[in-house]
Amino acid sequence: MGYRLVLFLCACGLSLSVHGVDYATELNLRYAPYADWEQHLTLEQIKAAEPEIWWRSPEAIRASRSDSGEALSGVHLAIDPGHIGGEWAATEGRDFVIGPEDFRVREGELVLEVARLVQAELVEMGAEVTLLRNSATPLNPKLPEAYLTAATERIERPNEVSWASLLDYAYALKQAMNRMYAVAGELEERARLVNEEIKPDALLSLHINAAPWPLDRDGAVKYSLVDSNHTHVLIFGCLSDAELSSPRQKEQLAVKIANGSATIERELGQALGLSLGKATALPASKYNGKNAVQLAGHTPYLWTRNLMLLRYVECPVVLLEPYIANSKESYPRIQEALERRHSGRPLAEGDILVEYAQGVVAGVLDVYGPGAGH
Ligand SMILES: [Zn+2]
Repeated sequence: MGYRLVLFLCACGLSLSVHGVDYATELNLRYAPYADWEQHLTLEQIKAAEPEIWWRSPEAIRASRSDSGEALSGVHLAIDPGHIGGEWAATEGRDFVIGPEDFRVREGELVLEVARLVQAELVEMGAEVTLLRNSATPLNPKLPEAYLTAATERIERPNEVSWASLLDYAYALKQAMNRMYAVAGELEERARLVNEEIKPDALLSLHINAAPWPLDRDGAVKYSLVDSNHTHVLIFGCLSDAELSSPRQKEQLAVKIANGSATIERELGQALGLSLGKATALPASKYNGKNAVQLAGHTPYLWTRNLMLLRYVECPVVLLEPYIANSKESYPRIQEALERRHSGRPLAEGDILVEYAQGVVAGVLDVYGPGAGH
């Protein structure tokens, strides 16, 4: 069931308050801190958004719970195990290995394991938890071939007609087509499922970060582990002027501003940033460019970025990026986690995937649990 949100509007300029939040300030500090947003977005566009709101705030969920109820009763969370894994891991660019005997590190498979652990814990405490996927199979109902025309617009045709150049062209087209299917097309379907079918109180998207591979003296990629290892979480924000020039992105921003998910995203991002920082005992990640921004008064583990999933999903959504998978510290821990699961040996004390799951569960309890809000 959705209801329409009442917007409180002032007559002067773009002054818009939803749930007591002034959105000119939100645009300046969170959604478009480096852009001249007044050139792109008008109050009329935000008013025209008329969002459907199906989720309940943590406060409303806690208030409707009886004292004798389970710690998380009344909460419906969706969990997105990021990426796909399996035969799609290489196409996604989420598949690597260092030593010839090592287990392949595939982000989509690692976070699915974490998602299952989190689901089991939260369900035990009375929450309803929907995993967007429970295997390494894409959810995108289209075929990769549906992206062929779009791929031809991206890949330059060869100038000369030779077998070698035509084969290279066909290979590049196939790569681009598969990638659009497994990345952008897949994200679009996941967001559609959340917005139109699952309609949870919030979505948590689980990832494990990785650093760019170092380069050797000749500029060639060196597949060796990096020193840096850190943790952060992301909520929607930080659109550039170019992104605000896109009618679709502007429309999605207007919906997110008008629907009041901003405040809950801050609350979830703050709690999960702190709980994952504590669970992983890693420092907060840092962005140096203008594609991400931190929020004043919040934990340094929380950043805002304009990622497709964060923009497409209408309800509160937080994307988690703990660890650097190709770091000297995390890679051996991931190998041990994979080896013990593969061989059936008991999990190690401090298993990295269990540690990740515990961090997520603690953050969810901090927001929706009985002790929250005090
Ligand atoms: Zn990822």
